[in-house]
Amino acid sequence: MVKKKIMKTREVLKVAALAIVTVILSLTSAFAAEEVNLYSERQPFLMDPLLKAFTEETGIKVNMVYIQKGMLERLKAEGANSPADLILTSDIGNLNNHLEADLLQASQSSILENNIPSHYRHPEGKWYGLTTRARIIFAHKERVKPGEISSYEDLAKAHMKGRVCTRSGKHMYNVSLLASIIAAKGEDAAEAWAKGLKANLARKPQGNDRAQVKAVFQGECDVSIGNTYYMGKMQTNDKSPEQKEWASAVNVIFPNQSDRGTHTNISGAAVTKSAKNKSNAVKLIEFLTSNNAQKIYAEDNFEYPIKKGVALHPLVESWGTFKADTTFLSNVAKQRILATRIMDRVRFDN
Ligand code: FE
Repeated sequence: MVKKKIMKTREVLKVAALAIVTVILSLTSAFAAEEVNLYSERQPFLMDPLLKAFTEETGIKVNMVYIQKGMLERLKAEGANSPADLILTSDIGNLNNHLEADLLQASQSSILENNIPSHYRHPEGKWYGLTTRARIIFAHKERVKPGEISSYEDLAKAHMKGRVCTRSGKHMYNVSLLASIIAAKGEDAAEAWAKGLKANLARKPQGNDRAQVKAVFQGECDVSIGNTYYMGKMQTNDKSPEQKEWASAVNVIFPNQSDRGTHTNISGAAVTKSAKNKSNAVKLIEFLTSNNAQKIYAEDNFEYPIKKGVALHPLVESWGTFKADTTFLSNVAKQRILATRIMDRVRFDN
């Protein structure tokens, strides 16, 4: 009798132990399944420390695929089967292309609404800015006299004839700049500007933003157009120290300080329509707007934090404060197709 009872107790214990093991295993696998899949146009050197910090804080694993070019085509081809939960891009242009291809979905988050000014996010939450960068004028320290140039409009005036360098008019940074001029002044004024700028070019558009500063340094032109962070990248470039010389030849000018402000673009993030880990994707975007992450962006890439109150890199701070154009970027983005057409019409790159 006693023996039978002991046997029964053993059986019960066995079953209970098995049940506990099962629960532990399922909990572990649920934890291990916490992940998020990211397609990033932003480079690994910048993203790795940010994603590492995110995983440490949340336990969510990030699988990042770095896609330098062709993200839109890839997402279109993958359709609903795409593994991507979210994308990161380095310009509003590419976010907007994904939006127009109906590849994004809206998400709501009070954290994102608090951290990101409304003009730097989609009105329905279909994309969010993470950092900002101003498109500025680099002017040769001696050959450009103080007050000679203080606006984008000045670049197209007669006194700048043969003195301006820029990259392709079809590059997304310049398309967004022209789109901002359409948004501010209308199509005709924007086309006249593009025509005037084209007429003032010292050479055919070529190279990247840094190559233009090099051309100013070498005397090919007196001013160029470029994004702010390239100044920091040149000023601190120990791998290619000649870039420090290029940078030291120019002053930084924030255009249009007496009217609409300097055109300021974003790097940003968006949740894909195909997302299978939507809440983790939103958590990652939220994390990227946190004080911690914003500090890493500012320190590692000379960008402006999108969140108020985060310290700038001392170099970035040394360029001075400026007034940014606060037109909703979603409205600027709507003018990008027309901007591309105008660049064609004025034969900007020919
Ligand atoms: Fe860039």
